Amino acid sequence: MLSYRHGFHAGNHADVIKHLTVVLCCEHLAKKDKPFWYVDTHAGAGMYDLNSEMSRKNEEHLQGVFALLQDPKCPEVFADYLRLVKASRDTVRQAYPGSPWFAAQMMRRSDHLDLYELHPADQKRLEQVFERDRRAKVHKKDGYLCLKTVFPPPPRRALVLIDPPYEQEREYQSVLQSLSDGIGRFSTGVYIVWYPLIQRPGSPKNKSSEKLVKQIKTRFSQEQLHVQLIMNKDQEGMYGSGLAIINPPWGLKEQLESALKYICSLDKSGVRTFSVQ
Ligand code: SAM
Repeated sequence: MLSYRHGFHAGNHADVIKHLTVVLCCEHLAKKDKPFWYVDTHAGAGMYDLNSEMSRKNEEHLQGVFALLQDPKCPEVFADYLRLVKASRDTVRQAYPGSPWFAAQMMRRSDHLDLYELHPADQKRLEQVFERDRRAKVHKKDGYLCLKTVFPPPPRRALVLIDPPYEQEREYQSVLQSLSDGIGRFSTGVYIVWYPLIQRPGSPKNKSSEKLVKQIKTRFSQEQLHVQLIMNKDQEGMYGSGLAIINPPWGLKEQLESALKYICSLDKSGVRTFSVQ
């Protein structure tokens, strides 16, 4: 089942915090004069058009990246992220990049990207976006299985983003399995797992993310950073999102804390909250 299309959600509040984290992690990894790999197990299309029919349906970006772009007082922690969003608009005025594009802009000539995407239309677009980038390899393969085959990465330095659509309940277990596959083969990599916070009583997905987070915390002994952005805890459906980060770079915690504090301050009704642990 491949009905999820990220184009409906591009640039929303969850994308902002996820893409900011990817940018900051790449920045940390690029400080050392040694190459690293970026593996995106569910890469999406690589670039989106916020003026498309998909994006205009719910205009999720208005509460996400647009709110930041319109604020001249946006804190320094967002500087590279926003610079890249603006740069992506050189060709398409309402463009918004996907995770692999953000990573690629922060990476050097000697670094390498492995990008997995199964949806035929998004995979085709991803191929086009990275057509001229010799550092990137686009795979039309199941991203849940990739860490088993490509890890450990030869440079022994890597950032992994596991960002699936969670269309089916069993995907929560597939995420845990992928993480085990990756960490089992390469324990010092930086791993980012994105998850939605869903409140839908009676649905099998209700509280599945909370269960996943608990399992991640107990199963892996590596240092972990857990962040959540809650847009409105009384909202039915997706009310927020979170990231579980394994082996977070030094200083990331403080950076995400200040970013989330600022995002919550943009909402004057006071229903937004965050946690960083
Ligand atoms: N990481 C992207 C970003 O932040 O720009 C968004 C990815 S989106 C949440 C999830 C993507 O995973 C969708 O484009 C979907 O087509 C793709 N997908 C679903 N199942 C997959 C699988 N088993 N392997 C690889 N890609 C898959």
